[in-house]
Amino acid sequence: MVELRIPGPTPCPPEVLQTMSKQMVDHRGEEFIGILNAVTAKLKQVFMTKNDLYVLTGSGTGGMEAAVVNTLSPGDKVLAVSIGAFGDRFATIARIYGAEVVPLNFEWGKAADPDAIRKALQADAKIKAVLITHNETSTGITNDLAAISSVVKSFDKLLVVDAISSLGSIKCPVDEWHLDIAISGSQKGWMAPPGLAFISVSPDAWKAHASAKMPRYYWDFAQAKRFLERGQTPWTPAVSVVFAMDVALDMMLKEGLDNIFARHARVSKAARAGVKSLGLSLFGDEKYASNTVTAITVPEGINVRELRRALRKEHQVVLAGGQGKLEEAIFRIGHLGWVTEANIEKVLSALKAALPRAGFAAEK
Ligand SMILES: *Cc1c(COP(=O)(O)O)cnc(C)c1O
Repeated sequence: MVELRIPGPTPCPPEVLQTMSKQMVDHRGEEFIGILNAVTAKLKQVFMTKNDLYVLTGSGTGGMEAAVVNTLSPGDKVLAVSIGAFGDRFATIARIYGAEVVPLNFEWGKAADPDAIRKALQADAKIKAVLITHNETSTGITNDLAAISSVVKSFDKLLVVDAISSLGSIKCPVDEWHLDIAISGSQKGWMAPPGLAFISVSPDAWKAHASAKMPRYYWDFAQAKRFLERGQTPWTPAVSVVFAMDVALDMMLKEGLDNIFARHARVSKAARAGVKSLGLSLFGDEKYASNTVTAITVPEGINVRELRRALRKEHQVVLAGGQGKLEEAIFRIGHLGWVTEANIEKVLSALKAALPRAGFAAEK
């Protein structure tokens, strides 16, 4: 079996795949209404929120776009905190829709500094919202969102969070941390295929929505709300992925959230220790190393494309390369969702075999 170890799409358990082979149903009929309501209620448990929560058909980026267009107007000032490719993407979406983006960029591999966010908010009272990534998948770094939230909330700003690769794997209690919008996607930690985004909307986000003028149709929260009151989505949803989520969420809640978070912590620790024991170096600030994706610096003189090709062809292990400016500089192991230490052992033994053949000699 192929060991798919990228940070999404992630492997799905057989129960989840099986349920996707079910025949289609009427997405406005009683059976599907029951399933959508159940999925929404279970998602709220994992998001740890009493806020409204919507299942959108689209990828995580669609959820990011929904967050922007539903809370902002052209000309609004937003602080876009970025520590990597996905933080940059959030800023780009806001800019394209006409927001006045105040960028706060940190060196890739570092976490965002809450004090710098405080200074940026102090310096500009016109900033209305803060866009931030919880877990930056492109660099393998998790921001200290609890600390950042307490700064943002001390200024009473809207906090809009891309938690696409953390929710469901790394603790991200939406209500406790006062996240006005939190976004995730089905193909990350949820053990389901791509196709759905999940988004929670706080009362303050609804207030922002009431005056938000950015153009929107497909993503309009008002439509989502109106339809969910009848257990429906405004447009045809990815029915089979909703089936998948129903089963995956049952598995998750049976395992228990604390156990899931602990498993991801354990697995990521094993990944980091294993990588180092092979003589490789982790990329970025290990203090903020992600529990869902491990970024590794490409050793001097090694062609990372060749290494990844050998892993795939000879060991059936699929790892991710770098993104953006890190394309040739790092490679990444995804360990979110359906993953245990055994998966990491497979990756490590494949790396151990493939590295010397790629020309790597660990320092003695
Ligand atoms: C995967 C990911 C996205 C983009 O999600 P898509 O489903 O590919 O659109 C955005 N942000 C983060 C942090 C991600 O990991």
